[in-house]
Amino acid sequence: MECLVSIASLRSRLEHARKAGQRIALVPTMGALHEGHLVLAGVARREADLVVMSVFVNPRQFAPGGDFDRYPRDLERDSALAAERGVEVIFAPPVEEMYGRGTEIVVSAGETAGRWEGVFRPGHFAGVLTVVTKLFNIVQPDVACFGRKDIQQVTLIRRLVEELDVPVRLVVVPTVRDTDGLALSSRNAYLSAAERTAALAIPRALTAAVALWRSGERRPMALEAMIGEVLRSEPGLVTDYIAVVHPDRLAPATMAEPGTVIAIAARVGTTRLIDNTILGEHDF
Ligand code: AMP
Repeated sequence: MECLVSIASLRSRLEHARKAGQRIALVPTMGALHEGHLVLAGVARREADLVVMSVFVNPRQFAPGGDFDRYPRDLERDSALAAERGVEVIFAPPVEEMYGRGTEIVVSAGETAGRWEGVFRPGHFAGVLTVVTKLFNIVQPDVACFGRKDIQQVTLIRRLVEELDVPVRLVVVPTVRDTDGLALSSRNAYLSAAERTAALAIPRALTAAVALWRSGERRPMALEAMIGEVLRSEPGLVTDYIAVVHPDRLAPATMAEPGTVIAIAARVGTTRLIDNTILGEHDF
């Protein structure tokens, strides 16, 4: 396992790999690795010969006053965990290495980025798309792996790759959950025991909506009402949105069909959590 911090050293390492005919997979992360990230690494391992994991807490995707400063960082632990899953190269650049040459150019998106998360986190997706574009250009991976847990992010990255002709194949990995159903997230570390109990209303609400859909309900409003009811039963939880949407651009669905996405964002104390399910897929 190598941990590289400069773009030049990574490029030279990857040039050797490419010359040797190796296919390269990229797994972008912000570190504080959990099983969700490690499943991505495992998938990447099967898809390519060399796995590069980036560990970079990207300041440009945090709002001023957000949790950038307190975001958990432990590169030694992350490197050990990633190595166990077959990651050969960690790319952990300092902020200066990524943005020292300027921050004038931004990759931004239109309507799809303005919805849902975009309403609550203005500028977030421009930060994400900019850093992902940089990582694609730096690594030039054959394959890049992303988690479906961040469904709007993955939807936008798909648009980025399609619309800007990025020569990379995307692999999207289903959400990895804890045994109690909560989607794994580095931000779960912020939750107290009581907050964690409150947060469980999120997977419970998704499970209830899926059950209602399986019983034949197809009206988005009825599914949203069911989710709202479950979320409201937990006083510690503040709902930001409940979205029943088309998978391609996340516009509101008129009918809940197989493939329709149900996405939730809610706050517990100062922690913001997101989760989703795709109807007809067996994750609940
Ligand atoms: P992050 O470190 O939060 O930026 O996440 C890095 C990558 O891991 C993103 O592609 C996320 O969607 C993915 N990821 C985060 N949590 C999970 C999870 N519970 N299951 C699957 N993928 C995840």
